[in-house]
Amino acid sequence: RAKNDGGATFRTFEPAMDFDLRDRVRLESDLRAGIARGEVVPFYQPILSLQSGHLVGFESLARWCHPIRGIIDPAVFIPIAEDVDLINDLSFALLRQACRDARDWPGHLTLSINISPLQIRRPDLAIRLLQTLYAGGLAPGRLILEITESALVEDIAAARATILSLRNAGVKVALDDFGTGYSSLHHLRELQFDRIKIDRSFIATLDSFAGGKIVRAIVDLGHGLGMPVTAEGVETIEQADTLSLLGCAYGQGFLFGRPLPAAEALAAVDTRHPMIDPRRATG
Ligand code: C2E
Ligand code: MG
Ligand code: MG
Ligand code: MG
Repeated sequence: RAKNDGGATFRTFEPAMDFDLRDRVRLESDLRAGIARGEVVPFYQPILSLQSGHLVGFESLARWCHPIRGIIDPAVFIPIAEDVDLINDLSFALLRQACRDARDWPGHLTLSINISPLQIRRPDLAIRLLQTLYAGGLAPGRLILEITESALVEDIAAARATILSLRNAGVKVALDDFGTGYSSLHHLRELQFDRIKIDRSFIATLDSFAGGKIVRAIVDLGHGLGMPVTAEGVETIEQADTLSLLGCAYGQGFLFGRPLPAAEALAAVDTRHPMIDPRRATG
């Protein structure tokens, strides 16, 4: 029915917009079918200890391997999945797959997953996550749930209940994209996290005077609150060195590795591929 309504209104738009809407409608129906066919899969990006240089885990980042369009980024299809109410099913399908993949990794490596703000509001989120971990054979202590600040703005009471149940069960919770939200400090005061992930826009400006001071302050703040800090978007050795000197616990970024398909992530673990730690590789 929605499609017919949409079709009727197309004629009143400019040609460019008309194309976007048709494209969008096609993507929507493709996404539904693609999820059913298993085309949306987790890729894995390495996360390292900046102090030891060791791999500590992977973040699962969704990729849609579209048969015609190739690999589609989550910025394109996650909002669609949210709009058409597919996000919850998609997330759990991705988590089931990630549990299977993580079973092949050394037991100390963590699996980080992203959760949509829409999911935090659901009262059954924690129990469903724990059931999925149990069925997938992944210890709750190995999961890190990444929540963005926008998820907390929507409904902090619901988020608090979910975070409490998950942390009681041993799941770790990270505040993602820290610094980009409206009330970052408020969230740190109101909720206990296991990690703070500094948004990559701050890492990109680390070498500026203000940028450096801000990152240092966030790292110290995390320390004081017992929330180790992960830097996102580490692209250069200089950034990694600066972060390490500032006492930042973990790093993630193209310097250490791009998001990889499961088999390549596993190969990187097994062979300690240089991509994982360029400094070790070069001695
Ligand atoms: P995020 O959770 O903040 O993930 C980090 C993003 O930064 C990823 O983009 C990653 O590929 C990118 N990135 C990592 N290192 C670097 C770097 O050194 N330089 C640059 N320029 N970028 C880097 P990606 O994979 O496109 O994901 C974008 C966002 O989509 C994620 O941001 C997350 O919010 C969302 N997302 C991804 N997968 C899922 C999912 O399964 N479920 C939900 N709900 N959201 C997801
Ligand atoms: Mg994330
Ligand atoms: Mg992030
Ligand atoms: Mg981000």
